[in-house]
Amino acid sequence: MAAEEIPYGRRTQHAPAVKEVHIVWITAGLSCDGDSVAVTGASQPSIEDVLLGAIPGLPKVHLHNPVLAYEVGEDFMQYYYKAERGELDPFVLVVEGSIPNEEIKREGYWAALGTDPATGQPITTSEWISRLAPKAFAVVGIGTCATYGGIHAMAGNPTGCMGLADYLGWNWRSRAGIPIVNVPGCPVQPDNFMETVLYLLYQAAGLAPMIPLDDQLRPKWLFGSTVHEGCDRAGYYEQGDFANEYGSPKCIVKLGCWGPVVNCNVPKRGWMAGIGGCPNVGGICIGCTMPGFPDKFMPFMDEPPGARASTGASAVYGRVIRSLRSITNATVNKEPKWRRRGTELTTGYRPRTY
Ligand code: SF4
Ligand code: SF4
Repeated sequence: MAAEEIPYGRRTQHAPAVKEVHIVWITAGLSCDGDSVAVTGASQPSIEDVLLGAIPGLPKVHLHNPVLAYEVGEDFMQYYYKAERGELDPFVLVVEGSIPNEEIKREGYWAALGTDPATGQPITTSEWISRLAPKAFAVVGIGTCATYGGIHAMAGNPTGCMGLADYLGWNWRSRAGIPIVNVPGCPVQPDNFMETVLYLLYQAAGLAPMIPLDDQLRPKWLFGSTVHEGCDRAGYYEQGDFANEYGSPKCIVKLGCWGPVVNCNVPKRGWMAGIGGCPNVGGICIGCTMPGFPDKFMPFMDEPPGARASTGASAVYGRVIRSLRSITNATVNKEPKWRRRGTELTTGYRPRTY
């Protein structure tokens, strides 16, 4: 095409700072692959959007996730060896599942991925993280197991497992200077994860500043508010109107909801395409995004200990407020009296020109 035929608007297009980015995803932590499955439900953006380059100006993305890959066995494993040799540069390392403590036993392994050709022994998951993390552009923990240990790291577990920051160190930085990025949730909310990946792609492209993280290494824009702050049942809470059994549309704090002290955006965002969630649709929040999950929240179906004082106060205040509001509600439920048929106009209109 001759130069003059190139549309003028192409001037808005700029090549990203890097042309291609690989996402090397380890699902071989102690996990159920629930996060890999969850992200297939994302739509803002979807995995397909990212892989097909729906957003212009970003690097081309190659995803290496065993749940979604075409390749199997050794063909699939090649990507991990290539990443280790520096042949997939840059790459984002995604870790799914808790990282077991392989140091507490003399033989065997808790979790592994691939076989070391030299020894014929499995390569442990923690070994892969130690090999790949120093070479990654960024390291991302997907789900509460990878971020903080999660359900597998609960009291009494035999593996001594932990989250990424417990394994690599909370002050760890990638070679691009990026801290570990934690996207907790059990499983992760689909769009929360894909938005975070998208942010890192913008960063790799040179189009965004350092990803903003809180002191638990969570993206601030996703985890800066509590469940309660985004729950559409909070109106019932404020009016001291609490459910005593499941199935009620009212606030379910007395049934075990931990929403007021949990950082998560699921009730506000919904699960997929704004549909679903937890307390907003009748399921108690069990704090599945939190570093203290699950031990600090069990038994799940008991009223949280701190809830009694605040619900007691709101029950007293709420009863008065509710009755005052019901009077006003009855008033505003009636139409103004001038809306009627008749030969006389009673709206108060006073013509000035006729
Ligand atoms: S259901 Fe839970 S999150 Fe929602 S208003 Fe009640 S306590 Fe808060
Ligand atoms: S609302 Fe509570 S239970 Fe639901 S995803 Fe968020 S932290 Fe987990």
